[in-house]
Amino acid sequence: MATNTSQTIRCGICYSDVKRNAKIYQDGVRFGVVCSKCHDNIPKDDLELMANMFTAYGGYFGKLKSANFSLYEMLKELISEFNINSEEVPVDKLNIEMMHRALLHGVTPQEFIRGLEIILEE
Ligand SMILES: [Zn+2]
Repeated sequence: MATNTSQTIRCGICYSDVKRNAKIYQDGVRFGVVCSKCHDNIPKDDLELMANMFTAYGGYFGKLKSANFSLYEMLKELISEFNINSEEVPVDKLNIEMMHRALLHGVTPQEFIRGLEIILEE
C-alpha cells in the first residue's frame, strides 16, 4: 500500500523546497535537481560549479543572505582577511574558499568574479 510520499525534494543550489517546479540538469554522469528560479537565472556551467562546491564544502546558495549585504564590503573583507595569511595559501584554494563564501551570501559566480575584478583594479 501507499506509504508516505510527501518526501521533500530540495533544490541542489538554493535548497528551496521544489515540488512541482523541479528542473533536472545533467552534470556529467549524474543528475542534479534545481528549482526553476535557479534553472532560469544561473548558467548551466555555474550550476555545476555551485553544486560541486556545496557537495565539497557544504551549505547552499544564499544560506547567509541578509538584507543589508554588500558584495563590495564582503569582497573587501575577504581580500584583507586572506591577505593576512597569503604567504602559503595557494591562489586556487583561496579563490575557491572566497567563492564558496560568496555563494553562501547569494552571490553568483559571475557576480563574484566581476566584483573581484573591479576591486582588484582599484
Ligand atoms: Zn534553487
